[in-house]
Formats: sequence, C-alpha cells, structure tokens
Amino acid sequence: MPMNQNERFLDPTIPDEMAATIRPKTLADFIGHESLKQNLSVFIAGAKSRGEAMDHVLLYGPPGLGKTTLAHIVANELGTNFRTTAAPMLTKQGDLAAILTALEPMDVLFIDEIHRLPTAIEEVLYSAMEDFKLDIMLGEGPSAKSVRIDLPPFTLVGATTRTGLLSNPLRDRFGIDLRLSFYSPADLAKIIKRSANILGTNIDDDAALALAYSSRGTPRIANRLLKRARDFAAATNTKTITADTVKTALFQLHIDASGLDEIDREYMTTIVRHYAGGPVGIDNLAAALSEPADTIEDVIEPYLMQLGFIQRTPRGRIVTESGYEHLGLKK
Ligand code: ADP
Repeated sequence: MPMNQNERFLDPTIPDEMAATIRPKTLADFIGHESLKQNLSVFIAGAKSRGEAMDHVLLYGPPGLGKTTLAHIVANELGTNFRTTAAPMLTKQGDLAAILTALEPMDVLFIDEIHRLPTAIEEVLYSAMEDFKLDIMLGEGPSAKSVRIDLPPFTLVGATTRTGLLSNPLRDRFGIDLRLSFYSPADLAKIIKRSANILGTNIDDDAALALAYSSRGTPRIANRLLKRARDFAAATNTKTITADTVKTALFQLHIDASGLDEIDREYMTTIVRHYAGGPVGIDNLAAALSEPADTIEDVIEPYLMQLGFIQRTPRGRIVTESGYEHLGLKK
C-alpha cells in the first residue's frame, strides 16, 4: 500500500515510547548538521555559565528534520524543564498566558508551527519574549483593564516550516536563527544504523544506505522505512535487513530509488498531463490533487525542488527536464 502524506510523517506504527527512545537526547547523539550543533553548544554553554536564560531560538525547515528533537535537546543540555505546545492549540490570549505564567526560571518553551499564531496572541508574545512581561486585558467592555505580570526568564524555541509566513516583529525577537536542511544519504544511513541498534535490529551497511537514499533527506522517514524494512525481514524470517529486503520493501511501498512515492509522482504527472508541464498555480494544483495547499507546499514540494524535478516560479510550478526524465517522459 502506498503511503499517504500524513502517514509519512505521523507514523502511527511507532508507539510513542519507542519514538521517544529513538529520539536523540543530547547534541552528541544528534546526527549531522555539524556547524549548527557547534553554534548551539556555544550558546548553551554561554547561557549556563552566565546563569541566564538562553536567547530565543527559531528553528525552521520541512517536517521531520529534527526541530522538536533539537528543542528537547536544548532543554536537556541546559538542564531545564521542557514545555511544549503548538500554535493551533492557542486560540485565546488566555491560553498563552496560562502557559507562560506556569513557567519556571530558565525553562524552555517550545511552540510548534509558530507561523500559525493568531495576531492577537503573537502580540502577547512580544513583551513576554523581550522583557519577560505579560500584558493582558482583564474583563471586557468599559471595565476592562490592562495588567502587567512579571514572568520568569525563559527560552522560547519556535519551530516553523515556513519563515516566509512569520511576521517581522516576531522574527526579530529571536536572537538565534537555525535552519535545518535535508540530510545527506551518509548522515541518514548513520541515523538508520543508530535507530536499528536501539530497536535491536540488524541491518547491513548497504541496506542502510539504500534506505537512506529513499528517505527524502528526512530522518523521520528514514526511521519509518527502517521499521517497514524490519517488518519485511520478519515476514521472510530473515534476521538481518539486507539490500534485498530493502528492495522488496520499497517496491511494495511504491517508493522509487529517489524516495518518491505515488503522491509525488501524481503531483508531477498532473502538472505534465493537465498543465503541459506548467506553470500552474498552487490552488489549481491543490484542487486537482485533492490535497491541501499547505501540505503540498510543506511536504511535497521542498524535496522535489531539492532534487531539481520542479521549480517554483512567480507564475506557478513547473516540471523541469530532469523531472520529465524521472517520470520517463519527454519534454
Ligand atoms: P520535526 O520537529 O522537524 O518535524 P522531529 O524532531 O520530530 O522533526 O524529528 C523526527 C524524528 O527523526 C525524531 O523522532 C528523531 O527520532 C529523528 N531525528 C531527527 N533528527 C535527527 C538527527 N539529527 N539524528 C538522529 N535522529 C533524528
């Protein structure tokens, strides 16, 4: 059965406790992104030695690249509590106020999908981030009054898949800006071997690399494919995941050697067949594919662009010559 987009990322087959075991807990365990880790370790050490809250951090990059993991690691390395929420869960100013007033000094507060914060809530965050003060309105109508509450110093870690959607005042309040890009196959292979080890599964080096190449540069997908390959090995009573096991698993999951699945291919063939290769606007494409525009922009397109199979132009999306080649079609 081909995977659908959400399945790719949510992975209901890895129980929470297993996902928590696989998730790296320290910077040393976090594979790849060497210079980002080096910088982060300097900022963490600096904050610790001064006994201050670390500067606020903005993490950005496509889903599954390790933003939540890094936020956990920051709290862990700082030796503080980790509090977490997601912007879509914050609908009233009071929701954010409740979280902020429950913080302890130096805590790390992680807000996922921070680009989705409603403006009224974002505005509460400004003074909280800048001066550790909470300005809220109590009551309604003529008797409403504004009160200012002191907050403990804390570090906000915001994660977003798209910085373009973040307002400038919010973005300016983050002292540390870290961008996560897709992982190399070599780093993904290391992640796969590490996870296999934790799961108690054997995997050959070439099998790990083959899985890595099909993981769309994304650790979450690498872990998920590993889990699937493990199932296929079990089904054939094989103790070790070999290149052959991987080949069968990828074939059964309809994933090609570039890591594209049926939805990626359908995305490209739709542009080719219905729009003569493009350009086509995102809304038309979303309607044709019955996928939300957000999913297309956050999940499908970044990796296809990275492979050079499509381009986003001001007039819309186009499939490139290598995209045509990948589909076995002529431009
Ligand atoms: P995001 O928050 O960006 O969507 P996550 O932090 O949830 O991504 O990462 C998805 C999974 O991938 C994590 O559970 C973790 O196990 C794994 N992972 C991510 N980055 C790394 C890494 N650099 N090294 C090892 N495993 C990683």
